[in-house]
Amino acid sequence: MISCDINHQERVQPIICFTFDDAHLNAYENGFPLLEKYNFPATSFINSGTVGRYKRLSWEQILDLHNHNWEIGGHTVNHPELPELSDEEAYYQIVQDYYNFLEHGIELNSFALPSGHATERDYAIIKSRYKNIRNSIDKEMRLPLNRFDLGYYAYQTEYTPQMVKERIIRGSINGEALIVIGFHQISDNNIDAIDYCRTEDFEEILCWVAEREYLVMRLDQAVEKILTK
Ligand SMILES: [Zn+2]
Repeated sequence: MISCDINHQERVQPIICFTFDDAHLNAYENGFPLLEKYNFPATSFINSGTVGRYKRLSWEQILDLHNHNWEIGGHTVNHPELPELSDEEAYYQIVQDYYNFLEHGIELNSFALPSGHATERDYAIIKSRYKNIRNSIDKEMRLPLNRFDLGYYAYQTEYTPQMVKERIIRGSINGEALIVIGFHQISDNNIDAIDYCRTEDFEEILCWVAEREYLVMRLDQAVEKILTK
């Protein structure tokens, strides 16, 4: 008789996080309503010094996201290359950013390194205020999860929804606990920069994730859930 040794243990699917960097207005206008449609929260990494600028979010829009269960994350005041700054400037960029949000009643838990670059000094300053740090490398995030070294898959203009689906499937097969898919701009117009996702492509990704019943969470809540398992 053939004995088929099937592992009946339920496969643990990775938690999916959607992040948005640099507070582009089109991500709010085009991406946010689609995330609401699928009932998915997200995390927005914002430079507090650019709030209200041309084609960037206003404080009112940031508070709207905050009130819809989005996580707002720190990303420095002005998006500098942290390693090039003096100690005083690095402290200002990281800590003043934190307090600029706190002044608006928004407490921050996560920080995204501008362009993924930071020195040991910068990490020490960030860790004094933040619980989680996201870098700019797409690394496999299996257990044990290092909350100060979170990777992400950054969607670029030439990418396709199929590439995101394959990344998520690969993570599921590899036993990753967390997969972060990062976007900048969500738009169908003037797609000349490197960091656009077309609106219909964005919805195709959300629809696929919803159909497969992946758990979608804010980055801070996903990390807490994984670390308290
Ligand atoms: Zn950025």
